[in-house]
Amino acid sequence: MKKSRNTRQRGVILGILTAGAVHLTAEEVCLEARKILPSISLGTVYRNLNFLREQGLAREIRSSDAGCTRFEATRDPHAHFHCRRCHIVRDIPLPEAVAGIRWPEAGPIASVSSLDLHVMGDCPGCADT
Ligand SMILES: [Zn+2]
Ligand SMILES: [Zn+2]
Repeated sequence: MKKSRNTRQRGVILGILTAGAVHLTAEEVCLEARKILPSISLGTVYRNLNFLREQGLAREIRSSDAGCTRFEATRDPHAHFHCRRCHIVRDIPLPEAVAGIRWPEAGPIASVSSLDLHVMGDCPGCADT
């Protein structure tokens, strides 16, 4: 009984992360989830986000800059651009150099399972003002 409720909550939360708008804070996920599950608490949302992360289905994006953690569904490897003024987060392709990643003494790394690259700066909108 309890299990099926948890499964449903997880399904709703994963659905929110995979539907269009990515990089949501737990609070934003909670607001969306309440449209479907009106009584869901922020604590439950956090627990489910952590569960999805442990299962490899979601990814946590931390930036030193904006001071908040965002979540996205796990997809192809990509980097993130963070605007230091408006705090928007955008997916950007990984620089090509990352493909040949190596450390000097040991040669190429055998395999890369995950990679976290954050680029900070001003987005085009903020650069104009
Ligand atoms: Zn900006
Ligand atoms: Zn992303």
